[in-house]
Amino acid sequence: MALAGCLPRSNRGEGDAAPRDPSKDDAAKATPAPSEPARADPTAVAQAPKAQALPARQTYDTAIPPTPDNLAARAAALTERYGPHGLSVMVEPPFVLVGNEGAEALRHRAESTVRWAVRRLSQDYFDALPRDIVEVWLLGDDASYRAHARAVFGEEPDTPYGYFTPKHQALIMNISTGGGTLVHELVHPFIDSDFPECPAWLNEGLASLYEQCSDHEGRIWGLTNWRLHGLQQTIEAGRLPSFGSLLSTTRDQFYGEDQGSNYAQARYLCLYLQEAGQLRDFYRSFRHDVGHDPTGLATLRGYVGQDMTAFQRHWEQWVLTLRYG
Ligand SMILES: [Zn+2]
Repeated sequence: MALAGCLPRSNRGEGDAAPRDPSKDDAAKATPAPSEPARADPTAVAQAPKAQALPARQTYDTAIPPTPDNLAARAAALTERYGPHGLSVMVEPPFVLVGNEGAEALRHRAESTVRWAVRRLSQDYFDALPRDIVEVWLLGDDASYRAHARAVFGEEPDTPYGYFTPKHQALIMNISTGGGTLVHELVHPFIDSDFPECPAWLNEGLASLYEQCSDHEGRIWGLTNWRLHGLQQTIEAGRLPSFGSLLSTTRDQFYGEDQGSNYAQARYLCLYLQEAGQLRDFYRSFRHDVGHDPTGLATLRGYVGQDMTAFQRHWEQWVLTLRYG
């Protein structure tokens, strides 16, 4: 199975929000500005009339762990609130899914994307469940995605793909843009609780690795994707930062400066470690040693060699041999 996509997380920055495929560039640029009033988009109103009458989502003050009982209670509450408006609700541990494409379609997405990814991610990386229930709202097209974001969450999406809203612990997705978009975002709530000290470079490197993925002998496997071309151009221009520099970026630096190349460099470092059969062990070693190796550089040296200059030269040459599309 091949998944494709990338998902913006509104509080994380544009690196997430970049289009998953070059063919989507124009669509992304054509997205209305976030400040545009809801009524300025008559298409959304016409195609999703039910959404306009939806009640706003209930908010929860404290984190609610995704135990079976808590998940069932959340699903029941959501069904009561939104079932009469034509939405389907389903538990797919550790998440609760809400969709507007019918129960069968939601079940298919739950099994083929969410369960598929959660099993493989948990098997390789995550020993802990997310701290809080995350609701995953899967809307079947752009109009209903925007209409539900407005009516239920009071938010105006600034991306055509989907976003995470920390205030509501909810993912709101235009699922027609691809399942990989969803997989990227599913990684974040796991890392937040499994490896809370995880720096942004690995958090986004791992999440973006699985924007484009397949099954490889029962394991989730990242593939080359649309981020490759820009990375190759940056390497050829001799402008890519050193790994020492990338790994020591603060959260603000990672999301703020050279964001696009930061995502790509982190993603293709993860791809390299995956191809070397080291990514899973690297993640676990770094998580174990983060107390005395907060950037991961010392752990990385243990896998790729002490001479980071030589490694970077080797890695850059390897990246230039990769192909996408
Ligand atoms: Zn992300």
